[in-house]
Amino acid sequence: MRTELVSEAGDRARANEDFASVGVPASGQGGSLVVLDGVTPPRGGTGCLHSVPWFTARLGGALTELTVSLPDVPLTEALALAISRTAAAHSETCDLSHPRTPQATVALARWSPETVECLVLCDATLLLASPDGTVTPVRDDRLARLPRTLLTSAEAVDGTLRNKAGGFFTAAADPSVAARAVTAAVPRAEVHALAALSDGATRWTDLFHEGDWPDLFALVREEGAPALVERVRALERADDGAGRAVLGRAKTHDDATVVCVEFQDAKDTHGIQGNQDARST
Ligand SMILES: [Zn+2]
Repeated sequence: MRTELVSEAGDRARANEDFASVGVPASGQGGSLVVLDGVTPPRGGTGCLHSVPWFTARLGGALTELTVSLPDVPLTEALALAISRTAAAHSETCDLSHPRTPQATVALARWSPETVECLVLCDATLLLASPDGTVTPVRDDRLARLPRTLLTSAEAVDGTLRNKAGGFFTAAADPSVAARAVTAAVPRAEVHALAALSDGATRWTDLFHEGDWPDLFALVREEGAPALVERVRALERADDGAGRAVLGRAKTHDDATVVCVEFQDAKDTHGIQGNQDARST
């Protein structure tokens, strides 16, 4: 197995609000990955004394631990437990019922020798590449289905569409949101590589339309995850120079995270040649 991780703040003067990790248990059997994208709160109070990075580090840390320490617990349950654990860490100091309480979009994956499990909440993306090269996106398109007029209205900014039926869902303080996540499970033999990306990185496909999901995954696998982020940054700068031609882009740059996992099977002759890797799988 080979992993690659890049996470880059959109603005160097601000903290990166994305979180990314790869967990590989000591057993050597399987592992998990976590990508969170903390939602930047609008001006005004959040009811919370803590920063967004504090929240994503707590939630992401809990998910990293729970997904590998409880391999038989479904990802939705692991997410609910992690949300509860994070909420308990500040329920005494903060108003967790506030609509702008810290929250994050989620992409989670866990693999064993038999299965790859996936979970996505809001606008993070998981991509699965099969041995024959087919790329399957796992996405939660509730946010994309909302009319743009609604998304740019004060209502959406206020958070009234967030975590409400008919709106879209993020991981905040209520563990029941985990049941709303998009999930999938596929046989491990059908997955050659997988990638998790925050929406700052998927701009290459879903905002700038430079290529489709297979094109994006091919770029990550052939040139590396940092190359994807560099391409997005170049497109953003060019678009700024052109007077921000692409509609609906609120921020010049967004935090961008990519985690890529390549499984190296014994029979595998593709990619990095690793006899040691081959023996261990
Ligand atoms: Zn707090």
